[in-house]
Amino acid sequence: MGIEEKLPAGFLLSTVEQVAGYMRKGSVWPATFGLACCAIEMMAVGTPDYDIARFGMERFSATPRQADLMIVAGRVSQKMAPVVRQVYDQMPEPKWVISMGVCASSGGMFNNYAIVQGVDHIIPVDIFLPGCPPRPQMLLNAILELHKQIQGMKFGVNRVAAARAAEAAALEATPTHAMKGLLA
Ligand code: SF4
Repeated sequence: MGIEEKLPAGFLLSTVEQVAGYMRKGSVWPATFGLACCAIEMMAVGTPDYDIARFGMERFSATPRQADLMIVAGRVSQKMAPVVRQVYDQMPEPKWVISMGVCASSGGMFNNYAIVQGVDHIIPVDIFLPGCPPRPQMLLNAILELHKQIQGMKFGVNRVAAARAAEAAALEATPTHAMKGLLA
């Protein structure tokens, strides 16, 4: 990223992380972006009933260069995949992605060659939101979870340590082939 990567470890870095996290989570601007029926529910969060403006997020950017949140609302066709990737690449760092609905997250009921079987095949995803379609309240809940992630973002040496801890946890996790049902 920038100068925050060069800050020394310790109390100062922790304070900078907390202040930056607080500022960032209060100024997330989504990209204007909708792919299918889930987008209607996404648009609903802008209405007075759900009021996304209370999070300072009512400004959906018409250009990816002024957006830092991509809400993938709907199924991603193979033809659309390069466009989704290009929009993501044009967004400045730091940026986040919510995969909204079962189609965006896994292809959903469209288990065929025309639909990407999970948008995480083409871009990194921070939050997977289940449902067909997820209700606007569920999207608001996903946004609140994303706020927690943004608030907890690490910089510099702390980021390196967090990445190592995540990798170690992934290596310790039970492999999928060894799992026995949902409770294993
Ligand atoms: S999850 Fe359901 S509502 Fe969302 S895009 Fe797929 S079919 Fe449409």
